[in-house]
Amino acid sequence: MAGEPQADCLFCKIVAGEVPATVVRETPTTVAFRDINPQAPTHVLVIPRVHYPDAASLAAAEPAVAADVLREAAQVAAEDKVDAGGYRVVFNTGAGAGQTVFHAHAHVLGGRGLQWPPG
Ligand code: 5GP
Ligand code: ZN
Repeated sequence: MAGEPQADCLFCKIVAGEVPATVVRETPTTVAFRDINPQAPTHVLVIPRVHYPDAASLAAAEPAVAADVLREAAQVAAEDKVDAGGYRVVFNTGAGAGQTVFHAHAHVLGGRGLQWPPG
């Protein structure tokens, strides 16, 4: 059922503590951990504990949790002290946009200059 843990989902396993991760923040609804292949000095993934395949489906089904993810992204940027210099929050949505893990997640990127458009 939507929102419930998926046995074959890497990020559900991180939520459950079955796959290790460098967790930087936790709330009752979210977990934030460092990306295993960082693209910037700060590269943290903020995920909902509930499973939805992408941010759009999370926002449609559980908008309060989607808001929690955005709030946590800002907290990560503040704690890593990249907020003043500017940071980026990215939701890759769909394989064509580079999404590889189909459990909703925000990338929080900062600590270096970020080009726009991203390519
Ligand atoms: P996507 O490409 O779906 O937007 O982002 C998935 C992200 O998850 C990638 O940036 C990738 O480096 C990261 N990732 C994949 N496997 C793991 C893992 O086992 N642990 C952590 N911490 N990050 C992972
Ligand atoms: Zn999942």
